Amino acid sequence: MTTVNDIVNKFEKFAPKWLAEKGDPVGLQLGDLTQTVHKMMVSLDVRPETVQEAIKNNVDFIFAHHPAMFHPIHSFDLSVPQNQMYAKLIKHNISVYAAHTNLDNANGGMNDWLADKLGLKHTEPLLGPKTEKMYKLAVFVPVKAADKLRQGLITAGAGNIGNYSGCSFSIQGQGRFIPQEGAQPYLGTLGQEETVAEEKVEVTFPAENKNQVLSAMYANHPYERVVYDLYQIEDVGEKCGMGRIGELSDTMSVEEFVAQCKEAFQIPTLRLISPDVTRKIKRVAVLGGSGSQFYTNALAKKADVYVTGDVSYHTAHDMLASGLNVIDPGHHFEWICQPELKRLFSQWAQTENWSVDVITTKINTDPFLFM
Ligand SMILES: [Zn+2]
Repeated sequence: MTTVNDIVNKFEKFAPKWLAEKGDPVGLQLGDLTQTVHKMMVSLDVRPETVQEAIKNNVDFIFAHHPAMFHPIHSFDLSVPQNQMYAKLIKHNISVYAAHTNLDNANGGMNDWLADKLGLKHTEPLLGPKTEKMYKLAVFVPVKAADKLRQGLITAGAGNIGNYSGCSFSIQGQGRFIPQEGAQPYLGTLGQEETVAEEKVEVTFPAENKNQVLSAMYANHPYERVVYDLYQIEDVGEKCGMGRIGELSDTMSVEEFVAQCKEAFQIPTLRLISPDVTRKIKRVAVLGGSGSQFYTNALAKKADVYVTGDVSYHTAHDMLASGLNVIDPGHHFEWICQPELKRLFSQWAQTENWSVDVITTKINTDPFLFM
């Protein structure tokens, strides 16, 4: 039996939650992590028509890019269409998970898929890099008790660095203490200095594991008062960031690139901001979703063209004045994540032995019609 939790755990190794932007409600949106999944559906959006489709197809888990519950609800009044949608999801035992800006920031995620669609080479993040908030714990323990402590810390989520688990460092030395009145020492006598062969065990762990790692330290340490140092560090190992900038294989005109975008995202029309459509371009920046506020980052990285959604009138004026070509294919161009997510989950279903059928939505959730 495969549960929502099994699927989520695997996904969060690929796009961990710490990669999400502040305040973005990523994660389980609705339902139950312990629920068994037989059929999952990947979708850009969760809309009433998507939910209807899920019910019709006996789907028990929707994996979406955009959070279904982006705005907090203040009542559960069922005359509100959005609330009716939540009620239907609950009634039909459909759990919903959202992977939003953590998928945007992940290496090999949304922005890489968009850059690949545009044929960009030598890409790097347009924004960032993002770094994970990490802690380092250094704890002093009698040598005899060090193995048990180290194991407890590892089990609680410490010691994972990249593709390595169980990472720790130890050095041996001598610890000294004088138990005072009221103490109930594991070793030694009241009022007398005690010298113990101790080990200093060092491990690192992400901020989200702090409580469980410290609990494991107390649970696996023999001393009445545990001596430890805890400090925040920044893990700058892997560079992750929003958007991509890269180069086309061949130089082409803005006009030619527009045709390429339409084909890549299968859209009949798009919005173009351009001082000169015949201008030759090679360096392209792309950012999935609403990225118009980052056009200056594209300029700073010497992009000839910037591809992003939801560009507004006044921002478009500023873009034009800056001399940058900007293509707005509409926010819905992120639909290209659907086949990519299906590919990932189908691959994991094989390697992880999940008995889960993975389908993609067939509904176009773009709210705009082009007439
Ligand atoms: Zn989006």
